[in-house]
Amino acid sequence: MFNLEGKVAVVTGANTGIGQGIAVALAQAGADIAAVGRSEATETADLIHAMGRKCELVSADLSTIAPVDDVVEQTVSSFGKLDILVNNAGVIRREDALNFSEEDWDTVMDTNLKSLFFLCQSAARHMVGWASRDGDRGKIINIASMLTFQGGIRVPSYTASKSGVGGLTKLLANEWAAKGINVNAIAPGYIATNNTAALQADETRNRQILERIPEGRWGEPSDIGGAAVFLASKAADYVQGHILAVDGGWLAR
Ligand code: NAP
Repeated sequence: MFNLEGKVAVVTGANTGIGQGIAVALAQAGADIAAVGRSEATETADLIHAMGRKCELVSADLSTIAPVDDVVEQTVSSFGKLDILVNNAGVIRREDALNFSEEDWDTVMDTNLKSLFFLCQSAARHMVGWASRDGDRGKIINIASMLTFQGGIRVPSYTASKSGVGGLTKLLANEWAAKGINVNAIAPGYIATNNTAALQADETRNRQILERIPEGRWGEPSDIGGAAVFLASKAADYVQGHILAVDGGWLAR
């Protein structure tokens, strides 16, 4: 049920952090990977090649939607198809709401929400051509956040974008379920990556965060991989519009 052999997955932002953790986990489950991003995912490709899986690097700066159709076309021309899309690339800007700039608003919304939507659209246009035939389904997994559920502080555009990712995931599930595509999201808790380096480095915030996590530790990128394999696999064929928290219990507290 969890075997992804013969599947092709696009993972955006696959060079580091959660994207790398997901790409490696999908490859471990058998998938070939198109590693998409503005920085070359050479380390990720090495890890995947070492498992005997294919990994193609696709260069794309997702701060605009210009490269979106190319990402899908390049993947299909390299591998012959695209079964799984993981929209992981994302940015964060921290500033008091009173001082927040239009630039920090647009950068985060354009990358985290606009490019995510148009990548979903482009991938789904490919998937509807084959999905449902032979019982195979297309799988789209969006990376949400605790700030899909909570307000957060000093990250207004990030909270708006990730709340948007939650709503969009449900809308797309409603529209595309009958077309053979599953659309779900993963909401990571506090994961030790570049995105959270500033929080980890702040002694007070770091302590406050750890005190609230029932697991008592920061998550690792590999902690997200299993959820991605599940949502990408046949095991999740009847899971739609779900936002799966992988948070060490953060939301339960
Ligand atoms: P990260 O290490 O900073 O990774 C972010 C990834 O997105 C990098 O690969 C980055 O590429 C890529 N990216 C950013 N802007 C891009 C652009 N314009 N074009 C193409 N790629 C771009 O942080 P992360 O924690 O792994 O974040 C991955 C996802 O998880 C994000 O959507 C983030 O919001 C989400 N998330 C993280 C946490 C957490 O605690 N870490 C919690 C909830 C959700 P570069 O390396 O080139 O910058």
